[in-house]
Amino acid sequence: MTPALTKDELSIIRIIFMQDEATRSEIASHLGTSLIKVSSLLESLEKNGFIYKEERRTKRGRPSYMFRIVKDRFYAIGISFGIDSFRLAVTNTAKDIIHEEEFPFKTDESDKKHIQSVVNTLEKIIRQATEIPAAKDLTPVSVGVSLPGMVDTEKGVWILGLQIGGVENIPLARILEERTGVPVFIEDAARTYAFYEKIVGAGKALKNFVLLYLDRGIGTGIVINHELYLGSGGLSGEIGHIIHQNNAYRCACGSIGCLETVTSSSGIIRVFMDRLNEGVISHLKEELRNSGELSLEAIREAAEKGDRLAITTLFETGQFLGDACALLIKLFNPQAIIIDGHCAILKDFFQGAINQQIRHQVIPEMIKHFEIMYPPYNQFTEAHGAALFAVERLLKRAVDKTPSYKIKR
Ligand SMILES: [Zn+2]
Repeated sequence: MTPALTKDELSIIRIIFMQDEATRSEIASHLGTSLIKVSSLLESLEKNGFIYKEERRTKRGRPSYMFRIVKDRFYAIGISFGIDSFRLAVTNTAKDIIHEEEFPFKTDESDKKHIQSVVNTLEKIIRQATEIPAAKDLTPVSVGVSLPGMVDTEKGVWILGLQIGGVENIPLARILEERTGVPVFIEDAARTYAFYEKIVGAGKALKNFVLLYLDRGIGTGIVINHELYLGSGGLSGEIGHIIHQNNAYRCACGSIGCLETVTSSSGIIRVFMDRLNEGVISHLKEELRNSGELSLEAIREAAEKGDRLAITTLFETGQFLGDACALLIKLFNPQAIIIDGHCAILKDFFQGAINQQIRHQVIPEMIKHFEIMYPPYNQFTEAHGAALFAVERLLKRAVDKTPSYKIKR
């Protein structure tokens, strides 16, 4: 974006970016301004190469125009940080990925050094992403970083890492922005997924939905009236830490019995391993003896081959998740719960239990027009979502003129 753009022009770009395309009257109604004023703003944006129009014929044969953003006008950088890897997705104005890459990450250092190393690696990846050939001669407009644990999106502060030790109120957005010179926005992993599904994925047409994120942690992204709900301190949707009576595992948050301890990727593996160590028979015992490691893919493969332990473990995972879904339906009455993240690759073995728990616990009227969606899992979805929210937040910040992490109380 160039500083020469006015607040109204940036607002128009934001509307078109969010919707993919928009008509003159849609824009006028969003801005609450006249068609004449919108026409002149659109004309100026078109002249400066930000947008273009496409003619559409209405049923009566009258031409109407759809406005879109020029595909290669700018690009954005999205990075997701897992426990053992970083994933990078670079997107163009059309929201498509033009470059994706994975960076394995491992350090055996103390918590403090480990976090320094996370920050340094993020800086390195951002610098690297500004030099990719696909974005030659363009400047990145902004960077989005999706993180595990708890994130205050508004302030750009990584509050807690939970499974990642040593994170305590790190002003990560500001640090990275100062080091790279590019605007940086950070977000919690579950909300990044929710944003992705709302903008380009399964939730695009939905007004109210909950994204249930099943990965290294468990969380939700809550979309109400087409907007992501952040909560007063930016900590909405921490369903991974609801406590279940039938669960005795201690969580990284300090409580006992959190949903995350049995339904996250490491949780599922841990439950399976504990049963195995108690002497329950499984095909995977031999494989474990050879490789020493267990993956979600191996558990899925064993379940597909009829392994009783794998099937029961995943059914029980489904029961826990079903209880959580029933709670979400009762709280939010959503049109859908979209289940995504690495653990969703096991859906064939837990969806029966999820449906069963919902049927048992929810009044039928509440689920009359409700569905559970399982979009195909892609390991770059999170980074892609991070690049998309980075653009949206940048436009919002420019329109609001209040750099979010500098808000004074
Ligand atoms: Zn917890």
